[in-house]
Amino acid sequence: MKKPFIAGNWKMNPPISAGIELAKELKKSLFDFRDVEIVLIPPFTHLYLVKKEIEGTKIKLGAQNMHWEEKGAFTGEISPLMLKEIGCSYVIIGHSERRKYFGENDETVNKKARSALLHGLSPIICIGETLEEREKGITMKVVENQLRASIKGISEEEILKTVIAYEPVWAIGTGKVATPEIAQSMHAFIRKTVQKLYNGSVAESISVLYGGSVKPDNISGLYAMPDIDGVLVGGASLKVQSFLDIIQVAL
Ligand code: PEP
Repeated sequence: MKKPFIAGNWKMNPPISAGIELAKELKKSLFDFRDVEIVLIPPFTHLYLVKKEIEGTKIKLGAQNMHWEEKGAFTGEISPLMLKEIGCSYVIIGHSERRKYFGENDETVNKKARSALLHGLSPIICIGETLEEREKGITMKVVENQLRASIKGISEEEILKTVIAYEPVWAIGTGKVATPEIAQSMHAFIRKTVQKLYNGSVAESISVLYGGSVKPDNISGLYAMPDIDGVLVGGASLKVQSFLDIIQVAL
């Protein structure tokens, strides 16, 4: 059985003090859980203190982005070595907000994902179509192209450490969740593409997460789908109780 995977992407929220409080409260309720991968993904400025807060628990730490280089003249960037040093296990790569506002594309996503793996971080690679692409009927093509380009050159050993997040852009932060059936069909398609690129056992083993307006009241339907291994949660991960309610479904 694959471990269910629940990650909370805090985005550019909350202030540090509230973030530490959130981590503290989650730690209290999650001190003893088994066989679920729970990952907190705060802003860079919070990483060190959140790490201190969750030390000694099974809760893991992730970052929201990184540069592909180890060091150098890249003002404003954070390197994989720094994330590793601070205690991150995961890093989100190619979130749609980064693609939309910061010019990230499949090529930079691929560079970042390969660099993350090289430095012992597991990338959570985000892919997904816009509303316009869905309405044009090109969803599968878009998602397949993004996936192929993002994982280009990644070995079989590395892909097993990689997490894919299907995040339809129209569902992120909008309150419009994909139906379990739509999400399931995309997840099955992603797995089939991974099977074509690697093999059946790799496709079965990797975690494919759904992300986009996941809330306590829609998690059960999504989580019941055979190809949904977990969720990447934005807004609902900022409140202790709603994140715990989402985690509860996987426990
Ligand atoms: C996300 O940030 O990846 C996300 C899915 O956000 P939300 O849950 O708020 O839609």
